[in-house]
Amino acid sequence: MEERYSRQIRFKQIGEKGQKRLGDSHVLVVGAGALGTAGAEGLARAGVGTITIIDRDYVEWSNLQRQQLYTESDAKLRMPKAMAAKEHLSVINSGIHIEAHVAEGTAETLEPLIEKADVVIDATDNFETRMLINDLAQKTKTPWVYGACVSSQGMFMTIIPGETPCLSCLFEQIPVGGATCDTAGIIPPAVHIVSAYQQAEALKLLTGQTDAIQRGFVTFDVWNNSHMKINVNHVRREDCPSCGTHAVYPYLQDWNTPKAAVLCGRDTVQVRSESLKRIPKQELIKRLKTIGKVEANAFLLHIFYEDFRIVIFNDGRALVHGTNDVKEANSVLARVIGL
Ligand SMILES: [Zn+2]
Repeated sequence: MEERYSRQIRFKQIGEKGQKRLGDSHVLVVGAGALGTAGAEGLARAGVGTITIIDRDYVEWSNLQRQQLYTESDAKLRMPKAMAAKEHLSVINSGIHIEAHVAEGTAETLEPLIEKADVVIDATDNFETRMLINDLAQKTKTPWVYGACVSSQGMFMTIIPGETPCLSCLFEQIPVGGATCDTAGIIPPAVHIVSAYQQAEALKLLTGQTDAIQRGFVTFDVWNNSHMKINVNHVRREDCPSCGTHAVYPYLQDWNTPKAAVLCGRDTVQVRSESLKRIPKQELIKRLKTIGKVEANAFLLHIFYEDFRIVIFNDGRALVHGTNDVKEANSVLARVIGL
């Protein structure tokens, strides 16, 4: 232990005491894409004792350019990202505990995970999940580090419930959203800068050095050479629905979790279905075999049907690739599975 972490222990702001605290800490990484793999790897190497990863997706070839933990073999096998990340992280640091969840981040799946975490790293790629993390972090008083990147730009902010403004407070002031990695592309240096900041913020929070955290919303463009810190002290709102005096946590309400969603820029619709969850896997394979060749691993099934590619996860979710139309996706699933 001493030898392994010696360079970090020599860094006086961490030292022996800080290193021990990291070993006793638990970080939740929501999303195992570019930010998630970079953050999880950095924190695993730093010796964070427990890292929990949740991700709903599987590894595809277009991920390999920036999602640093994954290999060609993961893409070939269509490994769920959470499982592939766990496997690689365990080889990087066998002395820590890694927990993987192949699931979508919803109020139900995330709440018990956030409750157990000391810090949450936002490595999601969509607005809804970030707002969900924002509400759950406020509800459970868990600090988290917001991070996002697209194209050559990135941004991050550390949110400490009861102390800093939350993401919801910020909306009014700063436009969030718009372009995605699938529409505007992304280059890895933008990812690494955001992730480096997120990791640094996590190390400060986990070692109890909240006075050292970045107070502000930081945004940069690594191609246009800009770097800007926006002071957000004044944006905390008393009437904020997520962190105000009468918080109602709007994103934890049921109506905010759609059964079907278009995955922005990916020509894909995700459908969540209770009945799909209840069909035994063998029965599902039997039904699918009547329409085409079924490929399966321990976590998902894959089949081509007409112009669509369908992936069905064990947790009752289906991805229909080849459409941006929820109705069409539902009708494809109805024809294929009989939902
Ligand atoms: Zn707020």
